[in-house]
Amino acid sequence: MLVDLHVHTAVSSPCSQIDPTLLIEVASDMGLDAVCVTEHEEMEGAEMTRRLGAEAGFPVFRGVEVYTELGDMLVFGLYRASFPLRTPFAELLSEVRGAGGAIIPCHPCRGSLGFHHTLGEEQADFLLASVDAIETRNGGSSPESNSAAESYAEKYGLPGVGGSDAHFLMQVGRCLTVFERDIEGEAQLVDEIKAGRCRAAYASEVASLRMPELWR
Ligand SMILES: [Zn+2]
Ligand SMILES: [Zn+2]
Repeated sequence: MLVDLHVHTAVSSPCSQIDPTLLIEVASDMGLDAVCVTEHEEMEGAEMTRRLGAEAGFPVFRGVEVYTELGDMLVFGLYRASFPLRTPFAELLSEVRGAGGAIIPCHPCRGSLGFHHTLGEEQADFLLASVDAIETRNGGSSPESNSAAESYAEKYGLPGVGGSDAHFLMQVGRCLTVFERDIEGEAQLVDEIKAGRCRAAYASEVASLRMPELWR
C-alpha cells in the first residue's frame, strides 16, 4: 500500500497552496492508495480532507506536524484541534504515548549534519530512544539529508518512513511510504509504523506510480 505520509493543505497551512479536493484527485490519479494530511499545529485541514476522502472513496488519514525544541515531529493517533507553537518535546511525547500514537521526527537532517550536531549528544540520544520511526525520505530535503536520516534509522534500528511534505499539488507523492499490508484505518497506520512493516521511497523508485493527469 502506497501512502504519502506528509502533506499540507491550504485549509490549515497558510504556506500550502493545496486544495483538499484536488489533493484527493491527484493522489488517486497517480496511484497512491492513501494520503496523510499533516498540517502545522492544527487538525482542521486533516479533518476536512478526511471527510472529502470518505465521500470520494479515497482513504485520508489524519496527522499533525508539531514544532518542538527538538525539531518538527509528525504525530499520528493523537487528536487535538491545535497545538501550541514550540510544544515541549517531552510534553508531546507523553501525550502521544497516552493516546497510543506514533511520533516521528521529520526532515531531521535538513540543512544540518544530523541530530547530534544540532541537538547535542544527550538530547539526540533521548530523542532517538523516544521516537517510533524517522522520516528518511522527505520531498523537501536534499538527497544527502535523506541519506543522513536513513543512516540514523539504520543505526538506531528505527523504521524509515517517507512523505512528500507537499505544499503544491505537483509535489504530492514525490516521497512516500510503502506499507507491506493494506491499512484499514488510522489505528492500523500507527501499528504498521511501530511494527516497522514499511519502508520509505522516492516516487521514482515505485514503478506503479503514474504521472497525474495534471502534470501532462
Ligand atoms: Zn517541517
Ligand atoms: Zn511539513
